[in-house]
Amino acid sequence: MSFVKLTDNVYVVIGGAFPKCNSIVIIADELVVIDPGCPVEDLRAFLMTQDLQLKDINTIILSHIHPDHITHTARLNRLSKCRITANEITAPLFNDKEEMKRFLGFDKGNPVRKLWEQLVNERMYGALDEGRVDEIVINADKFSLGEVTLRTFYAPGHLPDHMCIEILEPNLVFTSDIDMTEFGPYYGHPNSSILDFKESIRKLQHGKYNGLISGHLKEPLVIDYKERLAAYSRQIGLREDLVLAAIMDGAKSIPEITANPIIYPSLTNPVFLQFETWMIEHHVASLIGKGLVEDHRGELKAV
Ligand SMILES: [Zn+2]
Repeated sequence: MSFVKLTDNVYVVIGGAFPKCNSIVIIADELVVIDPGCPVEDLRAFLMTQDLQLKDINTIILSHIHPDHITHTARLNRLSKCRITANEITAPLFNDKEEMKRFLGFDKGNPVRKLWEQLVNERMYGALDEGRVDEIVINADKFSLGEVTLRTFYAPGHLPDHMCIEILEPNLVFTSDIDMTEFGPYYGHPNSSILDFKESIRKLQHGKYNGLISGHLKEPLVIDYKERLAAYSRQIGLREDLVLAAIMDGAKSIPEITANPIIYPSLTNPVFLQFETWMIEHHVASLIGKGLVEDHRGELKAV
């Protein structure tokens, strides 16, 4: 178990890379956990260092509906009877897991739906458990927890429901899956948006924060966030160049592009090929929008 102390009230329990995530723990008037995707045993061990237990959790806040972020919510709710808080888009998805699957692109007609469910159940067990959100928040809502105030900050693109959470004292932001990893931005669902993602990054870059907290970096606090976000955002352009190069080399369709995967170069899992396909589809749409590629009766061509 490892954790980072940011202030006397704010801690990060490190979950790290997918299929886990970093969980924020706030110890103030209430015990709040944001995104319980770190191992439950690690959360329990951390709370013990503060003379607290899992059953003492008062509130769980969800940044968005991804299984690696909501993983242990239902279980912790069963243990502690804590309140579950999510935004107006996330809440109905959490309350109805079929809606969640549809939202993520895995409706009943999706050929890899069963494999995706298997991946979630093997590596993010608990994420598909039934549960109910108790409190719905909207953009810019504030939570006063005594010495700490939180404020929601909608930051779509990764998914339409993705939000960051500002921690007003000491002026930090949990940026969740605007995670500043070397991999770069993830927009691998039909309703992800490259344009929205870039805009969300831009808004964070223009903020005057003391630092950002990544949902996946093992060293989660990023102080030089303006440069790190710029490098992170650049990955989008680099990928788009590779997609354009593939089309210029003669790839005429999405499957012909993904035959040599760009996002996940060593992928073997069909679920990841689905994520790759959705990401490439966003890039092709972007290239068509910029007038660099044309779609001639289903055949892609560089202009
Ligand atoms: Zn996510």
